[in-house]
Amino acid sequence: MASTDAPPLDANRYRQDFPILSSVLHGDQPLVYLDNAATTQRPRCVIEKIVEVYERQYANVHRGIHWLSDQSTDLFEEAREKTRRFINAPLREEVIFTTGATGAINLVARSWGDANLQAGDEILVTEMEHHSNLVPWHQLAERSGCRVKFIPITDEGRLDLEQLPALLTEKTKLVAFTAVSNVLGTINPVVEIVEQAHQAGALALVDAAQSAPHGRNDVQAWNADFVAFSGHKMLAPSGVGILYGRASLLDAMPPFLGGGSMIHRVTMDGFEPAELPAKFEAGTPPIVSAIGLGAAIDYLEDIGVDNIHHYAQMLTQQAHDVLEEVGGVRFFGPPPAEKAGIVSFTLEGIHAHDVAQILDQYGVAIRAGHHCAMPLHKRLGVAASNRASFYFYNTPEEIDALADGLRAAKRVFRR
Ligand code: PMP
Repeated sequence: MASTDAPPLDANRYRQDFPILSSVLHGDQPLVYLDNAATTQRPRCVIEKIVEVYERQYANVHRGIHWLSDQSTDLFEEAREKTRRFINAPLREEVIFTTGATGAINLVARSWGDANLQAGDEILVTEMEHHSNLVPWHQLAERSGCRVKFIPITDEGRLDLEQLPALLTEKTKLVAFTAVSNVLGTINPVVEIVEQAHQAGALALVDAAQSAPHGRNDVQAWNADFVAFSGHKMLAPSGVGILYGRASLLDAMPPFLGGGSMIHRVTMDGFEPAELPAKFEAGTPPIVSAIGLGAAIDYLEDIGVDNIHHYAQMLTQQAHDVLEEVGGVRFFGPPPAEKAGIVSFTLEGIHAHDVAQILDQYGVAIRAGHHCAMPLHKRLGVAASNRASFYFYNTPEEIDALADGLRAAKRVFRR
């Protein structure tokens, strides 16, 4: 394995905590799970927490004047507080539970966007965005007449920030960009981009879906106005995500979804919205998933987010080294040291779906396709790519299994 000065992290010890990782597929192939950018797996402590809540502490939150509701409300609010600490948000009211990163970004587009944007205004995104941080802005453009502009990427898969000053104009109202590309793995300079957005008088929204599982996500250090991420990419159950928003902005924004919980008062003539965070949490929230997110954060913090980041980078470096040896591999994105556990590539002459299918026969799970980033793939000049993505429970042996699987694919296709 390539040497780095990463601190030791015992992946084999952590693997014991993930029941699914001992799966055996197709009769005799141990599961090699390298699709963590799509979703991670859950450790036993998260699964047990979910079972425990359903068996002993489950009721609807906030509304019950009974013991069980108090139990579940306390756990739900404890999860909010753990999340607040995890991202270093100043206030618990700034942490909104949503259905995921997609839900969080759509909330901003519908609520803040509809209230503040008009024809002629501009939203700046990047060429490396996931559709979740692109389509809501296209939709807003359709509704408001505003324009979506793109920060280009360089051939090396970095944001071309030399273009940023010229792209930022007095019409720019928002810069919405990903902290880590879900395809290229590129770690973007969040602080620098937010600062430039602010200097131009625009707000900054950070899509932290891929960065939240990998290292520090400090919303105050970033000075971001909005930050969105999903629980399921960081060991938590699916169905819960987070919108962090600066309180002054959230306070001024109209509610997005209407219904129970988000109101202070309803009359025959209208309604008064509730205070934050309830204003943006209409209906029954993802109670148990949010509590599971709290348990996942405890687990991640026990391992140490910096350790996780360094370990994933070490695997990324190893993946580049061993895949290089396979031959015929075209990598996308910057050098391994600038990536967060994501390696996308094509194998010469073999369609990405065929590669993934052959790997699957060897128990190796990777992603194939456009990874919800079609404009980026157009820029890269390919319709589809393969993506292997790593987490702290992956081992160097699994990276070798990926390389062996690619060699097998080459043999099948006689490449
Ligand atoms: N942004 C990025 C960068 C992502 O990778 C993803 C998930 N692939 C999303 C947003 C959307 O996350 P979700 O589907 O959990 O809402």
